[in-house]
Amino acid sequence: MNYTQLNISVQDDEQADIFTALLADYPFDSFMQEEDHLSAYIINEEYALCRDSVTQLLAEYDASWQVAEVEQQNWNQEWESGFEPVSVEGRCPILIRAAHHSPAPEGVIDVIIAPRMSFGTGHHATTALMSQTIAQMDFAGMRGLDMGCGTGVLAIVALKCGAREMVAVDIDDWACDSCRDSGALSGVEMDVRCGSMDVVGGEKFDFVLANINRNILLDMMSSFAEALDAGGWLLMSGFLREDVEHIERGAAECGFAVESVAENDGWMVVVCKKS
Ligand code: SAH
Repeated sequence: MNYTQLNISVQDDEQADIFTALLADYPFDSFMQEEDHLSAYIINEEYALCRDSVTQLLAEYDASWQVAEVEQQNWNQEWESGFEPVSVEGRCPILIRAAHHSPAPEGVIDVIIAPRMSFGTGHHATTALMSQTIAQMDFAGMRGLDMGCGTGVLAIVALKCGAREMVAVDIDDWACDSCRDSGALSGVEMDVRCGSMDVVGGEKFDFVLANINRNILLDMMSSFAEALDAGGWLLMSGFLREDVEHIERGAAECGFAVESVAENDGWMVVVCKKS
C-alpha cells in the first residue's frame, strides 16, 4: 500500500494544529510536525477521491504545500526512527514506548505499542492528555470502550490502570492489526473489533474513551449516551480549544454533564458523566 505525503508549510505549532484539525475530516492516517512544515499521510487511493476537495480547502487557507509519494518501507523506517518513548504522570505513572526501547523502570506501567501505520504513538498531545486523564481517574473493575482505538494505547493504559475489560474499535483495518499487536506486546487481553459504533450496538459500558475529532464525536454522542448508564464516564479528545463549546453543547443535549476540561498544547480533553 503506497501513501501520499502532503507537506504543508507552517509558521508555528498553532498553524500546524489548525491544518491538522482542518484535514481531520479526510481519511489521513497520520500527521507529523517537522520544523517548518506539517506532513500529512494518506493512502494513494483515498487521496485520489478527496484530492479536489483537499486542494480547495488548502487554497482557501492560503496554504503552501507540496505532494510526494511515499513507499511503505520508507514510511515505516521514518515512523520508527521518529518515535520516542512518552512518560505520563498520574495516579499510576506510565511509559508509552515501542518494543525496541528500554523497559519502564520499576513502579512505572509499561505500555508497548506497535505503531504500524496508525496514529496514536503517544506522541500526539491528545494521546498523552487522554492517557494522563485515565491515569488520574479510577476505572478499577470497570468495562470500557475505546472508540477509534488506533494502536490501542488508551485501552491498554485503562487495563493497566485497573479496568476489568476493554472493547477496542477502529474503522481502519491497519489500526485494528496494530491494536492486536500492541495488546500482545503489552501483555493485556482486549476485544478488538473493526468498525464503528455499529459493532457495539446495544452493549453497555461503564466508560467510553474517544480520541477522534470534533465532527465524528458530535455524530457519535447519542450512541455514546446509549452505551452508558447513569453515572457512566465519557472521555473525549481530538479537538481544539475553540471546539470545546460545540462538544459541551452536544454532550449536554445527549444527557451528559461536563465534569472537567483539560488542555495540552491547544488540544483538549473533556470528561463528562452521564446524568
Ligand atoms: N485512540 C488513539 C488513536 C486516536 S486517532 C489515541 O488516542 O492515540 C483516531 C482514530 O479513530 C484513528 O485510528 C481512526 O482510524 C479512528 N476513527 C476515525 N473515524 C472513526 C469512526 N467513525 N469509527 C471508529 N473509528 C474511527
